[in-house]
Amino acid sequence: YGDKPDIVRDKSAELYEKAKQYFPGGVNSPVRAFKSVYGTPLFIEKGDGCRLWDADGNEFIDFCCSWGPLILGHNHPKIKEKIIEVMQNGLTFGAPTALESELAELIIKNNKYIEKIRFTSSGTEAVMSAIRLARGVTKRDKIIKFEGCYHGHTDALLVKAGSGLVTFGETSSAGIPKAYADETIVISLNDKEAVKAAFEQFKDQISCVIIEPVPANNGLLLQDKDFLQYLREICDENCALLIFDEVISGFRVGFDGAAGYYDIKPDIITYGKIIGGGLPVGAYGASAAIMSNISPEGSVYQAGTLSGNPVAMAGGIAQLTELAKAGFYKELNTKTEDFTNAIQRYASSKSYKFKVFRIGSIFWFAFTDLEKVQTSEAIDPKSMEKFKLMHRELLNRGIYLGPSGYEVGFVSAAHSKLDLEKAKRAIFECLDIVFRN
Ligand code: PMP
Repeated sequence: YGDKPDIVRDKSAELYEKAKQYFPGGVNSPVRAFKSVYGTPLFIEKGDGCRLWDADGNEFIDFCCSWGPLILGHNHPKIKEKIIEVMQNGLTFGAPTALESELAELIIKNNKYIEKIRFTSSGTEAVMSAIRLARGVTKRDKIIKFEGCYHGHTDALLVKAGSGLVTFGETSSAGIPKAYADETIVISLNDKEAVKAAFEQFKDQISCVIIEPVPANNGLLLQDKDFLQYLREICDENCALLIFDEVISGFRVGFDGAAGYYDIKPDIITYGKIIGGGLPVGAYGASAAIMSNISPEGSVYQAGTLSGNPVAMAGGIAQLTELAKAGFYKELNTKTEDFTNAIQRYASSKSYKFKVFRIGSIFWFAFTDLEKVQTSEAIDPKSMEKFKLMHRELLNRGIYLGPSGYEVGFVSAAHSKLDLEKAKRAIFECLDIVFRN
């Protein structure tokens, strides 16, 4: 094999010029702008199974999967059918429908960690509401979050966050009132001592500890169970609530998410995009007692015109019905493990400074020789230059990864063994190119 020419992006470039007239940076969510990788952003025209096609007709095997929700791949027939069926009767009523309870039942019956749930329209809203609930229940204001964990774009949580913020090298947002940021205590992941010190310093002031139990927005910073267990214990000792933000890990590492994977019961769990099968949904859930604090039962207000939207519920019901089938996760996770193990074996055989971290069907390519990467500080920003080259070379070989080395990749049920074989070969070639340079 030799170096491949860059893919044609003429049509995407034209569409990007137009989009720049209307949107800041030409996009409606920052990482999409391809700022930290080569070339103009690809404008996508179509997705089917594990494949994507851009406006220039380039075809890719997709490992971004719309940043996670498409665990069954694009355009899944069962999801499409269910959505179309429900759409025939109208799109939104701003009134309860049976579909909401149907999706809630699917979630709660298969999950021993929560008893009641509330649907929102995004992960951001779910987390924002969970924090408000924790503050309302404990009557305390401060929250603890971890450096590199991203919890959506609400004010209190845009402090030392991952995702697009770390991609663009500015980990806290402008426009956050100091008074809000002051209520957020940011601690390094995997640092029990710092958690303990914060609880001592701010005794009886901390409402909750929020963590992505599978931190997946600043690389994949897999924590030891021991650390998550410690958070459970210290929250209990201090009457603070533990929130697992499972917007990525929920229904991804298993039907009952990271809570089930580690078998740790958080007080509140937040879910996102994956429970809508590709439509905008989020949710937060907890025990019936905690959830009774939410309006109209309790005094913590939270609402949404399109919350529990029937079409989004339909997408979620169809997707989660598939995920709840016996053996679904075993097959997906084993397939992913075979894929990432083969890549790791290849890189190790060539002594490349490269590691693939994985949990379930989530993976992250890290240009490091560390055995474990558990904090954002352990990532060398210079290693992102290697990712940048890899990203371009992969696109040139028909493989689509999210356009940032800090973001994780996802394997879906729609990736066949043959697709993964093809992707593997391309990844081997790209590793050779990256490490030749
Ligand atoms: N929490 C986590 C862990 C996330 O990964 C994200 C987004 N990827 C969010 C919250 C915010 O979700 P949304 O983008 O749907 O608002």
